[in-house]
Amino acid sequence: MSKKLEYIVPKAVRLNLLAESSQAVSILREDQNHALVSGNKWWKLKYNLEAAAAAGCDTLLTFGGAYSNHLYATAAAARELNIKSIGIVRGERTLPLNPTLSFAERQGMRLVYIDREQYRHKADEGFIKSLKDQFGEFFLIPEGGTNELAIKGVEEWGLILARNHDFDYLILPVGTGGTIAGLINALPQKKIIGFSSLKGGSFLNRDIEPWLKNNLRNWRVETSFHFGGYGKVNGQLIDFITHFELQHEVPLDPIYTGKMMFGLIELLKSGAFEGNSKILALHTGGLQGRSGFNF
Ligand SMILES: *Cc1c(COP(=O)(O)O)cnc(C)c1O
Repeated sequence: MSKKLEYIVPKAVRLNLLAESSQAVSILREDQNHALVSGNKWWKLKYNLEAAAAAGCDTLLTFGGAYSNHLYATAAAARELNIKSIGIVRGERTLPLNPTLSFAERQGMRLVYIDREQYRHKADEGFIKSLKDQFGEFFLIPEGGTNELAIKGVEEWGLILARNHDFDYLILPVGTGGTIAGLINALPQKKIIGFSSLKGGSFLNRDIEPWLKNNLRNWRVETSFHFGGYGKVNGQLIDFITHFELQHEVPLDPIYTGKMMFGLIELLKSGAFEGNSKILALHTGGLQGRSGFNF
């Protein structure tokens, strides 16, 4: 397997968020970098896919919840590269399958359901061995896709961002923290602000710091725009996303990019940025997740 995932160079779009502000805000449509393996997941998978190929491994195995963008992207990547994929899904199989899982199955991903208790042991050696006994050899990608090879891919992305765009601040949504960690490593000269899509802030720093290669504090994670926690939305957020799309012609997802953009506008209003700052927000993808919320 020497084939590589297709990559479409995405465009940055200038946004007019607040009439009276002196900051220049753009959003990079990284969600358009690939039809199916989009956003940050493309970069997180890149070197994992190369490593699997180099190891002569023709099966990927990974983990996710029923709405996981990572499962969706892994299934599509495996299909494009003509290798097999197994998705270990947290929870019970419920029919009809939701749009994420039915997509994954259509890509040829074999879905295996495990209960929440077993799922908690997903990284244990014994559990991985039992999966190998069951399914044969595979290349393991952890939940959310965050591992050393994912960070390497995101670091490469960061260097490309610095080369192609002029910005002081880089803004992005945060889940497992892998993406922001890679960007922090690649961009010590920039200011980086992550917006957590999960409730509870301190564990995020714990998830990010182990991946960092420098101890600069040129970054922080905003933790007050999670709307109740991971996967939680309310009417205010849905209204915001709907209006944002009408006004700026940029669709956002309710799990990550919608919360980031809501939070970014709040920060702009509160005067958190110096005058004339250049702000680049990353559209990390996730639009497939909208179908799970019926919009
Ligand atoms: C997975 C995902 C994230 C979070 O990335 P992490 O590396 O887990 O922090 C952000 N945005 C979108 C759209 C995602 O799918």
